[in-house]
Parts: sequence; structure tokens; C-alpha cells
Amino acid sequence: MNLQDSITRAAQWINNSKHTAVFTGSGISIESGIPTFRGKEGIWNKYNPEMVEIQYFRRHPKESWGVLKEIFYNYFGNVQPNDAHRVIAELEKMGIVKAVVTQNIDNLHQEAGSKTVYEFHGTSRTMSCMGCGSMFESKVISLDVLPPRCMTCMGILKPDFIFFGEPIPREASMLSFYEAQTADVVLVIGTTGEVFPACQVPINAKENGARVIEVNTEPSQFTFGITDIFLQGKATEIMNELLKEIKKTS
Ligand code: NAD
Repeated sequence: MNLQDSITRAAQWINNSKHTAVFTGSGISIESGIPTFRGKEGIWNKYNPEMVEIQYFRRHPKESWGVLKEIFYNYFGNVQPNDAHRVIAELEKMGIVKAVVTQNIDNLHQEAGSKTVYEFHGTSRTMSCMGCGSMFESKVISLDVLPPRCMTCMGILKPDFIFFGEPIPREASMLSFYEAQTADVVLVIGTTGEVFPACQVPINAKENGARVIEVNTEPSQFTFGITDIFLQGKATEIMNELLKEIKKTS
């Protein structure tokens, strides 16, 4: 089947579905200008992943924060959602997409207008005090002096995304796996499927009978395993085409 036929079939499945869920990875945000972690241009080619291990952070918060600031806050502060994020938000408004489960921490789904977003790895939007637990919007915290400190107790602030060695946020995990058990179509966009346990979400959906439509520039761990329709290409281009086709065939 050529790409156009595959898009048409995917649009029909989505239109006929009662509950479409979306599962995204860092590939969806590449066209907004955020690099992935792994791969040729990946962040880990430039920085040591040890810097975002929780044990390292506890012992060396200043050094860890130097890297966190550069990787996350310098990049994420200036980026905008792209068409792929916007199409997903529009599909939610149309009543088709019920929820987005994302591995991303960049807040771009919400900025595009998505309302029901489960952040499997937490978020860079807020930070919490390691001393008293107070939570702050990241944008009100100055990173001129590191590590940033709590305005209430002067404790050290930590971003609310998970570091290596930390558990998945309980509520996001429960809601994500609930989606996996409820969805009849899962749209998987821009993820290698190599990060555990996040990769279990679409696998679990497939085991529960969902059809899996995948959008990626390259085959992933899912493509030859659980994917029913593989739409190869950039997320923005494929999602724009898919939306057109959904509107045509609805
Ligand atoms: P990954 O870096 O392992 O893989 C990215 C995937 O995106 C690859 O399969 C690649 O082929 C695909 N891709 C590249 N360009 C694309 C495009 N234009 N359109 C569609 N697909 C494209 O990403 P991952 O699987 O999400 O795992 C990395 C982990 O790192 C995630 O768990 C996430 O938490 C974190 N992360 C998040 C961000 C972010 O918040 N934007 C950025 C980097 C890493």
C-alpha cells in the first residue's frame, strides 16, 4: 500500500473509532526545534546522562542544574508547538482524540490546546522544593544563580520531570494504562519505543485489541511488532494529511 492509501485507511479507522488515544515521543517536538536524547544529533552526544540521575542531583545540585538549565530551560523556553501538536488538539476538539499520553516534558501539547494530557515522565513546566514540597511555575524561577531555591524555605528546587532512577508519576502512569485499556485506536507518533515502561502503553493497548497507527520518519521498536499501519514521514506533514483525510471521510 502506498503512503496516501495508508493515510486514507488510517483516517477511516480513526473516524470509525469510539476512543482514539495518542502516544507521543520526542520525535513530535523535533520540528519545533527540540533535539532528541539519542541518535546522531541527540542531546546525550553532548552531555553526560549521569547529570540527570537523581543520586547525582542530590549530591551535586549545582553541577546538575548547570546542565539542566542548558538542556531544558534554554531550549524549551523559546519553542512553539508545531502542526502535529495542533492537529492532535484539533482532533480532541472534534471529539475524536480522547487523551494524549506523552513521554515529553516540553508542555507543547498543552500549548497547542490539548486538554487531556498525561505526562508519563512529568513536566518542565513546574519545579518543586526538595525540602518542603512547595511547587512553583518554572517561568517565575530565576536560574541566574544555581541551584534555584525555594521561596518558602530556601530548599533546593528540582524540576517536576523524572530523573534517571526516579519512579514514574503514579497518577500519570495509572491514567496512561487506563487509556491503553480503553482505546480502540492508538496513534503512536515520534518515538523509538525503547524507553521502559512508557513503551508498554501502546503494547498494552494492542494486547487489549486496539489498532495501532504509527507515524515516524524511521521504523521503531513498534513498527514490525504491534504497528498495523506505518505512516513514514515527518510528524507535521503526515498529521496535516491525516487531518485532511479525516475531515474528508467523516
Ligand atoms: P527518541 O529520542 O528515542 O526517538 C525519537 C523518535 O522520533 C525516533 O524514532 C525518530 O525516528 C523519530 N523522529 C525523528 N524526527 C521525526 C519527525 N520529524 N517526525 C516523526 N518522528 C520523528 O525519543 P523517545 O522515544 O521519546 O525517548 C526519549 C525519551 O527522552 C523520552 O522518554 C522523553 O521523555 C525524553 N525526551 C523528551 C523531549 C521533549 O520533551 N521534547 C526531548 C528529548 C527527550
